[in-house]
Amino acid sequence: MIKESNLNPEQASYREEVLAGDYWMHELKAGQTLRIVDLYGNQAADTLFYSLADPSERYSAIDTLREQGNVYLTAGTTLLSNLGRPMLEITADTCGRHDTLGGACATESNTVRYSLEKKTMHACRDSWMLAVAENEHFGVSKRDITHNINFFMNVPVTEDGHLTFADGISEAGKYVEMTAKMDVIVLISNCPQLNNPCNAYNPTPVEVVIWG
Ligand SMILES: [Zn+2]
Repeated sequence: MIKESNLNPEQASYREEVLAGDYWMHELKAGQTLRIVDLYGNQAADTLFYSLADPSERYSAIDTLREQGNVYLTAGTTLLSNLGRPMLEITADTCGRHDTLGGACATESNTVRYSLEKKTMHACRDSWMLAVAENEHFGVSKRDITHNINFFMNVPVTEDGHLTFADGISEAGKYVEMTAKMDVIVLISNCPQLNNPCNAYNPTPVEVVIWG
């Protein structure tokens, strides 16, 4: 569902550009709003959420999809935790839908899906591992890296239930915006994948903006 925001980036409390292949790990307090902007189009932002108070409570794709009765995330979606509690609500979305079924890229999956020589290519799982190692104060560990959201990524489900990694539906300047319902840790890997169309074979920066 397309829904525009009336928040003004000039009045934001925080703005940062995240390069492709980099991570961004940051807390978002209850009531604050986070916007992720697909600056150049067709870029996947692989994202995890944890409760700031207790990171063992985390975003749950299964609970979120079951409760909303739809496999795509968009404006109106409440992102639920593994304890069934609302973590964030998507309040605006100019892309239209986002994936939470396709998972994140890893060096292991790259070798299985593409070829053995892809083993050394940078992948989202590496970025997350680096993020948790460099930000020990959040109390998140390798063990907590679980199922994620791929903002802006297009993984349509066919009529007979197949998953397809398709060319993106996002474009330069499209954004998704969400308001925290509890204090959360946001962990984004701006995907460096070059082997499928999730980044249009050309990984590019995204911008993160916070209000409140
Ligand atoms: Zn990736």
